[in-house]
Amino acid sequence: MRWTGVPISMPAQPDEPPDKPDRPAKPQRPPVDRKARLGIPAKRPQKQPAEERTGNWEEVFSLFDPEVAKAEAMRCIQCPAAPCQKACPVHNDIPAAFWLLEQGDFDAAANVFRETSELPEMCGRLCPQERLCEGHCVVGKHALPVAIGKLETFTTEWQRVHGGAPSPEVAPSTGKRVAVVGSGPAGIGAAERLARLGHGVVMFEAWPEPGGVLLYGIPDFKQNKPAVARKFDDLRYLGVELRTSVRIGEDLEWTALRDEFDAVFLGFGASEGATLGIPNEDAAGVYSATPFLVRANLEPAQLAEQYRHPLPPMRRVVVVGGGDTSMDCVRSAVRLGAQEVTLIYRRTEAEMQGRAEERHHAAEEGVRFEYLTSPLEVLTGEGACVRALRCQRMRLGEPDDTSRARPQPEPGSEFDIECDAIVTAVGYNVDDEWGDIEPSLVRDRWDRVVVEPDTMRTNLRSVFAGGDDVNGADLVVTALADGQRAAAAIDEYLRTGDW
Ligand code: SF4
Repeated sequence: MRWTGVPISMPAQPDEPPDKPDRPAKPQRPPVDRKARLGIPAKRPQKQPAEERTGNWEEVFSLFDPEVAKAEAMRCIQCPAAPCQKACPVHNDIPAAFWLLEQGDFDAAANVFRETSELPEMCGRLCPQERLCEGHCVVGKHALPVAIGKLETFTTEWQRVHGGAPSPEVAPSTGKRVAVVGSGPAGIGAAERLARLGHGVVMFEAWPEPGGVLLYGIPDFKQNKPAVARKFDDLRYLGVELRTSVRIGEDLEWTALRDEFDAVFLGFGASEGATLGIPNEDAAGVYSATPFLVRANLEPAQLAEQYRHPLPPMRRVVVVGGGDTSMDCVRSAVRLGAQEVTLIYRRTEAEMQGRAEERHHAAEEGVRFEYLTSPLEVLTGEGACVRALRCQRMRLGEPDDTSRARPQPEPGSEFDIECDAIVTAVGYNVDDEWGDIEPSLVRDRWDRVVVEPDTMRTNLRSVFAGGDDVNGADLVVTALADGQRAAAAIDEYLRTGDW
């Protein structure tokens, strides 16, 4: 039996998937001519031209053509130390996968990624590869690094169409039940592994559909939504029950949850948008990133009641922030038809934490970047609606506690940017509601749940946590790795009863 699904830009899968053997053994890899491989030109998949893609919400990159993918995989020099694998938070065996890929065994290559990752299709699209696997690729010291992320997405999407992903073995039922609170990457990593280990898993999601940040936080031009839906088909196949539109503490009491389940995993993330703390920030036309993105990217029925009304037309949009979410906002604003979209960031591009590729795409799509610029005040006009953002120029001073240069205001440098919408994308905090839901759950001063790092145990017996609610807003792949680690610890606890 195989998991299937229909991703973008591939032919529909056959009705009856062939019965392929699951997870073949990895073949021996003979030595390769590294010097010759360093001379192979880099290949990248096709990309929609900027003037075309600003008129649609489709992904920017197509999937690799199969022959081009093989040629790109051949650029991997198969270094035994595999620094790319070490730098990958889930430790994908990238050289092994690429060896199979260059032999044309796409299915086996995809299985290598699936051994260590529940979300290879997504991580290949969403990871900041320049900081992780590709940033440590030895080929990258001489030329462009191997396109690890795009090859990972290609192989695993290819497999979905050509017979589907192998459904993993599921251990006999243990009779134990685990509640997974949150259906984002951490919850998915925990739920899938726990289900495979034979535990009964129920996922709770506050939004109407499962997926967390993968569905509600990532626009279609970066990650198509059917890829997210397929993941939940996988989980349902494994017997995971999904209960959506359930907020713990409102729709279901925390004590009832504890009573019903043998263990709980908290993977509810960090979804409270940070504020600017400037005058008039609550004016009509000022949006926090998540309400803006979900209303731009999803159907009303997929949203909580308060977000179901459409966004008004907007002509001039200013986005404040410097991470990937701010790029999602500016690029969504372009696709919503805004004629002028400006991003302001208080440091320089060198200090920005998001992906360079996203900034490049935003610039190609006509977004204007104002670096060393900080917001001072929202100016309002008729009907108390936004008419401009008053800003101030900054210069860089000494490093702060994040080791990045601290921006200092330039006196007398104030100026206004005329606009009819402002989007704040200056980070996410962990929701402080858990202080009311379970006051004895130990959290730090930023409301992050405190865990024992190896076991992801909280201070409450049988309660584990991981992902953004523990780390603060971070990457999909780091949340996934947390969920995986928690699953192993929960399994041990359920089998031994030791705490
Ligand atoms: Fe690279 Fe992310 Fe894939 Fe790991 S999961 S190989 S870091 S793209």
